Amino acid sequence: MSNNFQRVFFHEVGHFVAKELNFKLNGIGEAESIELESIGYNNEYLGRTKPKIPAGVDPNRSIVHLAEKLASLVYGCFIQSLFLNQNFTICFDMKGNGIEDLKEWDGILLNFSNKRSEIIKNEEKYFEKLISLKENGHFDSFFGLNPDDYVIKDINNLSLYHLNLNAVRANIDEFLEIHQQYYYEFLNEIKNILEI
Ligand SMILES: [Zn+2]
Repeated sequence: MSNNFQRVFFHEVGHFVAKELNFKLNGIGEAESIELESIGYNNEYLGRTKPKIPAGVDPNRSIVHLAEKLASLVYGCFIQSLFLNQNFTICFDMKGNGIEDLKEWDGILLNFSNKRSEIIKNEEKYFEKLISLKENGHFDSFFGLNPDDYVIKDINNLSLYHLNLNAVRANIDEFLEIHQQYYYEFLNEIKNILEI
């Protein structure tokens, strides 16, 4: 598998980490499926995470947990950037891999325009924290995941791969146990800033 495949894998699993912790915390925001699709040039792939919509819930009204939503949107770029040893703002940029995440994040913050810079400052501070955690081995098992062990080729579409989320979940469970305290701190900071 190419480096691009690994990069997109960790980006999507980054969203998954946040969604799993949101689910543990609030019982909301679980991921239904994650797909990686080869787009046919430059060995490049697109990743997609589809949310699980609980029965009886209007998908248009599901953005009630704004802090959790903002955190899960930026987590793809956080994890991708830790993996690549880059600043997350390279990814979380209108020219970066996280463009769709950034657009959605921007849309939510339209209602909190006076808090935008504080939210960004908090993300930068938290990313520094994640870098120091990585330097101390916090992510060793996590980044040791081999994408090949978790992808299933689509039977009809040769360029499409599905992630086996149960297998990913089983293998990041211990990581989530130790990671959750940091994630919840990040989430609480967002809630404090937005006063929600
Ligand atoms: Zn993303």
